[in-house]
This record gives sequence, C-alpha cells and structure tokens, in this order.
Amino acid sequence: KSFKLTFFLSLSLQAKMSRPVQARRLEGIDKNIWVEFVKLAATYSTVNLGQGFPDFPPPDFLKEAFVRALSGENHMLHQYTRAFGHPPLVKILAQFFGKLLGRDLDPMTNVMVTVGAYQALFCCFQAFVDEGDEVIIIEPFFDCYEPMVKMAGGTPVFVPLRPKAPEDGKLMSSADWQMDPAELASKFGERTKAIVLNSPNNPLGKVFSRGELELIADLCEKHDVLCISDEVYEWLVYDGKEHIRIASLRGMWNRTVIIGSAGKTFSATGWKVGWTVGPNRLLQHLRTVHQNSVYHCATVAQEAVAQGFQRELKLYGKPESYFVQLPKELQQKRDWLVQSLDAVGMKPIIPEGTYFLVADISEFKSNVPDVPDSDEPYDSRFAKWMVKNKGLAAIPLSAFYCGAHKNNYNHFIRFCFAKEEATLKAANDILQKWKQEKTSP
Ligand code: PMP
Repeated sequence: KSFKLTFFLSLSLQAKMSRPVQARRLEGIDKNIWVEFVKLAATYSTVNLGQGFPDFPPPDFLKEAFVRALSGENHMLHQYTRAFGHPPLVKILAQFFGKLLGRDLDPMTNVMVTVGAYQALFCCFQAFVDEGDEVIIIEPFFDCYEPMVKMAGGTPVFVPLRPKAPEDGKLMSSADWQMDPAELASKFGERTKAIVLNSPNNPLGKVFSRGELELIADLCEKHDVLCISDEVYEWLVYDGKEHIRIASLRGMWNRTVIIGSAGKTFSATGWKVGWTVGPNRLLQHLRTVHQNSVYHCATVAQEAVAQGFQRELKLYGKPESYFVQLPKELQQKRDWLVQSLDAVGMKPIIPEGTYFLVADISEFKSNVPDVPDSDEPYDSRFAKWMVKNKGLAAIPLSAFYCGAHKNNYNHFIRFCFAKEEATLKAANDILQKWKQEKTSP
C-alpha cells in the first residue's frame, strides 16, 4: 500500500514539476561568454589578456579617498544613501559633464548613479523597449546588449562595421572598420525605438568620427529614435584623437542617454560604480526601473568616486590629471602589444581607443586540432586551444557578433592591454616561443 502511495505521489510531483520553471524571456540567452572564458582563464592561463580589467592599481588619490570614506568620522557612509545617486557624486558628475557638454545639468534629474555601466544599460532597455520594438546594434558589440534587448521583449537589429583593406604594407586601424551609410539607413524603420552606440568601441577600439556620429544623429532625428550611448572608454583615446559625445550634436541631447563607468575611468572595475547622464524626460523612466530593482551601489565607493571627480575637475586638462595620464600610459602599452603581435604574424588592428586590441590570426593559424561537426567558430576554438596549450588568454571576436553573423568574422581574437609591463612582457615571451616552435622543424 505504502509503495503504491509513494508511486502515485512521485508521479503527481513529476507532473507538477514538468512545466518549465524559467520565464520565456530567458530562452536562448542562457549562455554567456564571460562565464565560459573567465573560467578557462582561471584554470589554464599564466597570462590573462582576456577579460577587460587592469592588473595595475587604481590611482593613489582614489584609494585614499575610499579609505577616508571607510574609516573616517562620517559613519553614515556605511548606510543607505539616496537611491538615484549619493548626493556628492551626482553633484560633481553634473558639474563635470555640464562642463563637457556645455550645458547646465541638474544633479537630481539629469544624472543617475548605477551599479556599473551594466545596470545603466539594463535600466535603459527596460525603460525604453516594449514588445515588438527594434533596437539597432552596431557589430561587433559589447555582448550584453543583445540579451538585454531580448529580455526587455525587443528585437535586436544588427548592422556591421565592415573592414576595408589598409594601404599596402600598412597595419589596419580600427578606423578602417566603417558602416555602410545606406545599410545603416535601411535598418531604421517604424519599429526602431533606439540605437546603441559604443564609442570608443569594445572590442575594436574604434573611435567614431564626427561624420559617422552625424550620420547616426540625422537618422535618429529623422525616425524619432533614442540613442543609448555607451561611453565607458571616453577617456581612453590615443594618438591625439578626440572623443566626441553624440549628445553634443544638434538635436541629440533630448534623445540620448550617456553611460559611463568609474571602473574604466579610474581603473577600478570591481567597485561597480556607473552612471547615466541625460534629459529628465528620459532619466525619469530610468529611475522607475532603478527604484524597482537595485536600490543603489555601495555608498563608500560612490563617495570615493565623487572625490576622484572633484580632483579631476580641478586638474582638468592639466598634465597631472588622471584623465590625461592614463591614456598616455595605455597608448604605450598598446604599442608594446602591437609590436609583439606584429613580430609573430598575428596582425594587430591598431585601436584608436579602449583597453582592447583585435588581432587577425588568419596567417598565424596554428596546429589547433579540428573539431569535427562543430559549428563553433574557428576563433573560439583557437582561443580555447591557446589558453589551454600556451597559457595565454584572449577572447574570440565572434563572441561580439550575433548568432547568425558569428562565422563571418571568425579569425580574429581580442586582447586586453590594460596590464602591467611585466604582464605584457610575459605575453610577448609566450608569443615568441610559440613562433619559434612553429618555424623550427
Ligand atoms: N559597456 C562596455 C562597452 C564595456 O566594455 C563594459 C565593461 N567591460 C561595460 C559597459 C560594463 O561596465 P561596468 O563594469 O561599469 O558595469
């Protein structure tokens, strides 16, 4: 009897448990490149040029500000602060960005602090995208845009940057990757709600020119489309290039949300302090998402970032400014990595900005064993093989394309050069040794 009872009980339990537990919005977005590659790097790498974070410390003034906030007299810094941003931080961000944009910003309505740029992006998609809306994403793109649009019920529409061959004998530059204006225009339509712009762009390091931004701006105006402008690498531009804020172009302030991150700005990615700047007509809706999801990020971290910006405002444009020094240092690191890669025949695409450099591996193609019947792009197999066999971690470029386009760009890998000189030297040693092994019989 008791056997029968258990049997029927387990049957009815099974019946109850057979319906999916996950919401439909999670379908197809469960895989994540970072989970996979961060684990591979942790297991196998001796030199990690994969995920984008510096292995050098943040500047002393920022660490000292954090310590002061943590152990100073004001113990209220250990408690909740204002949900939409710690008042000293939103005030200085309003002043700082007000100066950059040449307009008066209200700290309470034109600025909102987020848990890293990630949460800023999440708030934008949740706040603006309805079922059936389309969001234009320029490929290659920071991978989270696609699942975030889908989770909001929207449809991502992709438009590629297409590489054009450089002049003979020259290395390619990220500036050689361009949109086809007619192709871009063809993506805008009735359903287009927003475009995501990421300049300087992760992974290519492309810094969009004024002409390219004007093209996007004109289309946004013509079709009444919003611009989600991910500018987390705004200070990391090289060779005297200028980072132009699309919100500063005619007609764009009212339809743009600027997204930034203290992680990249002050080399402290683990603090997870980010922000949005924009008109209240847009930010009021970001606040609705924010207040119904994450209350805020750590008060002490916000206080320290506020002090960092106060220092930078005083030193704006001066040689001692961190925003002047950091790109100088990174440009040097970029050049070391360019040399290392060029010397072994992994052709670097010289980035105009960001932490990243993409290299063409088609001529370097190595003895990576083929995986029969696998539709995994070659660059992904190569990057996995490289970390397992050579101890060097990088990210396949195909990770920055949508599923349908992954195999169009499958012979590039992305390296992060925001690393100590010793790390870049160790990478160079691995590459040199590898090259020798390949050439010696
Ligand atoms: N946008 C881009 C383009 C990024 O590269 C990153 C981080 N790699 C983010 C947003 C997220 O930034 P945060 O760490 O501040 O959340």
